[in-house]
Amino acid sequence: SEPLADFDPEIDALIAAELGRQRAGLEMIASENHAPLAVMQAQGSVLTNKYAEGYPGRRYYGGCEHVDRIEHLAMERLKALFGAAFVNVQPHSGAQANAAVMHALMNPGDKLLGLSLADGGHLTHGMRINFSGRLYDVASYGVSQDTHRIDMAEVAELAREHRPAVIVAGWSAHPRHLDFARFRQIADEVGAYLMVDMAHVAGLVAAGLHPSPIPHAHVVTSTTHKTLGGPRGGVILTNDAALAKKIDSAVFPGQQGGPLEHVIAAKATAFRMAATAEFAERQQRCLVGAQLIAERLGRADAAAAGISVVTGGTDVHLVLVDLRDSPLDGRQAEDLLAQVGITVNRNAVPRDPRPPMVTSGLRIGTPALAARGFDRDAFAAAAEIIARVLIDAADADVSGLTDRVRALAEAHPLYVEMVPGRLEM
Ligand code: PLP
Repeated sequence: SEPLADFDPEIDALIAAELGRQRAGLEMIASENHAPLAVMQAQGSVLTNKYAEGYPGRRYYGGCEHVDRIEHLAMERLKALFGAAFVNVQPHSGAQANAAVMHALMNPGDKLLGLSLADGGHLTHGMRINFSGRLYDVASYGVSQDTHRIDMAEVAELAREHRPAVIVAGWSAHPRHLDFARFRQIADEVGAYLMVDMAHVAGLVAAGLHPSPIPHAHVVTSTTHKTLGGPRGGVILTNDAALAKKIDSAVFPGQQGGPLEHVIAAKATAFRMAATAEFAERQQRCLVGAQLIAERLGRADAAAAGISVVTGGTDVHLVLVDLRDSPLDGRQAEDLLAQVGITVNRNAVPRDPRPPMVTSGLRIGTPALAARGFDRDAFAAAAEIIARVLIDAADADVSGLTDRVRALAEAHPLYVEMVPGRLEM
């Protein structure tokens, strides 16, 4: 059969263009990463052809001897990485992992308590038009008005008032650790299950640089493509055998048909990588990078331009920038950074007066640059460029700053093995 470049030059050229974009600029979307070549090779394999409904040793299809071993390896590596007794590696995405867990732990109409989208929660934590908001009766907690941290007294109060079946702890845009132990106490007090969605911080947890939710939660979900640096996908972990059984049947046949064994192979490779010292060192650089950005945007010249950092700093791989007092809104700030070659996403800040398509904030993350080898000096240089763009705004030296971004990108080459955008076989 013909190679992609010959059979479908249009798609081939667009993939090459995307590689060019990733190489030339700085990806600072907090939920993104650059998956290693080995992970992409596992994913771009003949495993894409295989049907394997069921679980290892219990399939509804023949010819599963190799995918059984692959899925078994993925499971064993994931258990070892986080110290969990039972795992499911089949969810196609983080959203599907969350849907499956909710399906396993609740009936439609039951009460769900999660962090509100406006305060940093994920769509699947109860947003009105998401499946979670449509199927379940949602109550939301938020962050405190003055500290912008999760207000555990409010969580306890809402839990007592609503008696939820499930409490979700986890976020998509929040720069601080959560108090998992306190969440569990509250869940126990009201007879709820505690589900922790560690999608954003899983890589930090694997590296021992963030408290683990595993000892506290009834169930933990995650994506595999954020800080964890693997293929796009989801996983579920628990130490409770009875819940594990329910979760398995909620994933298949409850939510999904055939598992994506090519993605599961890539997950296995990513879990192997996440257990290395090199991976831990990369996560450490992620944290250092985020702290340098928070420190730079917390200085007086930024404050004078109406720019601040939500909670005054960060414990994780991202910084939430508050532009409520700046002449720039989130969309303008995102566009200005894009002009110099830095990709971030605008993001609502707590009590954001602007609509979700505009917002008054930015979410800036470091995992992709850490994967590219950024060290303290390179992150400090990136932080300075971001500060110049946001502070100088319309007066920013766009061409000079673009040159500085280019130089940083070139000093940290990406996917040097690829010719030009493909995995050569
Ligand atoms: N959970 C959290 C906390 C997330 O931030 C995200 C994605 O942004 C998800 C779940 C959903 O993951 P996916 O995009 O793979 O469905």
